[in-house]
Amino acid sequence: TRRSSASLIEAEAPVLAHNYHPLPVVISRAEGVWVEDVEGRRYLDMLAGYSALNFGHRHPALIEAAHRQLDALTLTSRAFHHDRLGQFAGALAELTGLDMVLPMNTGAEAVESGIKLARKWAYEVKGVPADQATIVVAGGNFHGRTTTIISFSDDDEARANFGPYTPGFRTVPYNDLAALEAAIDDTTAAVLIEPIQGEAGVIIPDDGYLAGVRAATSRANCLFIADEIQSGLGRTGTTLAVEHEQVVPDVILLGKALGGGIVPVSAVVARREVMSVLGPGQHGSTFGGNPLAAAVGTAVVDLLTTGEFQSHAADLGKVLHSGLTDLLGKGVTAFRARGLWAGVDIDPALGTGRTISERLMSEGVLVKDTHGSTIRLAPPLTITEHELTTAIAALGRVLA
Ligand code: PLP
Repeated sequence: TRRSSASLIEAEAPVLAHNYHPLPVVISRAEGVWVEDVEGRRYLDMLAGYSALNFGHRHPALIEAAHRQLDALTLTSRAFHHDRLGQFAGALAELTGLDMVLPMNTGAEAVESGIKLARKWAYEVKGVPADQATIVVAGGNFHGRTTTIISFSDDDEARANFGPYTPGFRTVPYNDLAALEAAIDDTTAAVLIEPIQGEAGVIIPDDGYLAGVRAATSRANCLFIADEIQSGLGRTGTTLAVEHEQVVPDVILLGKALGGGIVPVSAVVARREVMSVLGPGQHGSTFGGNPLAAAVGTAVVDLLTTGEFQSHAADLGKVLHSGLTDLLGKGVTAFRARGLWAGVDIDPALGTGRTISERLMSEGVLVKDTHGSTIRLAPPLTITEHELTTAIAALGRVLA
C-alpha cells in the first residue's frame, strides 16, 4: 500500500536535516516536463531541478545511455583508465570551444576545482608571490555551499556561523566594470562570475559587461572563470550564456544538466595552458569522471551538438517573455528573462514567493521562490508552447 504525501512528509521530519524547506509535494514518478505525486496528481515542472533537468525527466537518449553503461561498467576510480572518459572529455571540449576537461561531480566541486586551478596558475605561470593570490567575485553570487565558497558569499543565511572563512577573495558589485577593474591587481589570479546570476533572481548584466570582463582580465593577465553551472547547456537559448556576447572565458564551470538529471556530473573546462598546471596527485575525486557519468555526460553533449534544444529555448523564450510582459502590472512588478529562464518579481502585497509557489502548486505547476517575492521559472527545454502558455496562464490566475 502506498503512503500518503502527508505521512511521508511527516516521517521525514525527525530523521532528515532541515536544510531545505520543500513545497509539500511528494513526487514518485516523472516523464518529460511532467511529474506525478504519490496520490497520482500531475504537475508541470517549471523548475527542472534548478536547471539540472534541461532535457526533461528521463530523456530517452539519456536513460538509454545510462542503462547501457550500467550493464557494462560503473566505476573504476581514476587509478585505472576506462573506455568512456576520453570520449566525454573530447566531446565537452569541442562543445565549449576550450581544450581540456577536469571531471568532477557536483557544481560546488567544479567551483572549488576552478579556484584551485586559478591559484596554481597564478603562482606557477603568472608569478604571484606565494599565498598572495586573490580572486575577484561579484556581490549577490551563488557558487555553492562549501566552506571556501560560502566565504565569499554575501548571503547571510548561507554564511552565518560557518566561519572561520577562507581568505583571498575580493567582492565587487555585479554588473559594475569600473569596480571590477579597480579590484584587479598584480595578485589577481582570476575573476569568477556567473554570466547571469541564477539564485540572485536571474540577474542579467548589461550588454557589454561580459565582453568588458573578458577585456579587463586579458589586459591584467588574469583568468576569466565563468560559472555556467546554472546558465549553461542550452538554458538561455545558446549552449553557454557567455555566447550572447561572443565571449570565450579561460575557464568554464559546468554541472547540473551535464548529468542529464540522472547522475551528478560537473566539469572544469579550460585552455590547455591553464589546465596543464595540474599534475598527478595534485587534485582528484574518486567518482569524478566515472564511467556512468562519462556515458551520460557524453549523451548530454550529443543532445546539444545539433543546436535544437538551444534554438527551442530561444524560440520559446520569446513566448515566455511576452507572457510575462502581459502580466506586468497584474501582480508582476518586474521580470528578467533570457531563453527559458526568468526571475519574476511578484507584488509583495499579493504574497511572498513562497505563498505564490504554494498557490501555483495547487494549480498543478511547480516553481520555487528565490529571494523574498521573486520566483524563478526554468522549465525543461523540452517544454511545448502549449505547456508553457498553460503555466503562464496558471501564474496569471494565481496573481489575479
Ligand atoms: N554555481 C551555480 C551558478 C549554481 O547555480 C549552483 C547551484 O545552484 C552551484 C554552483 C552549485 O552546484 P551544486 O549544488 O551542484 O554544488
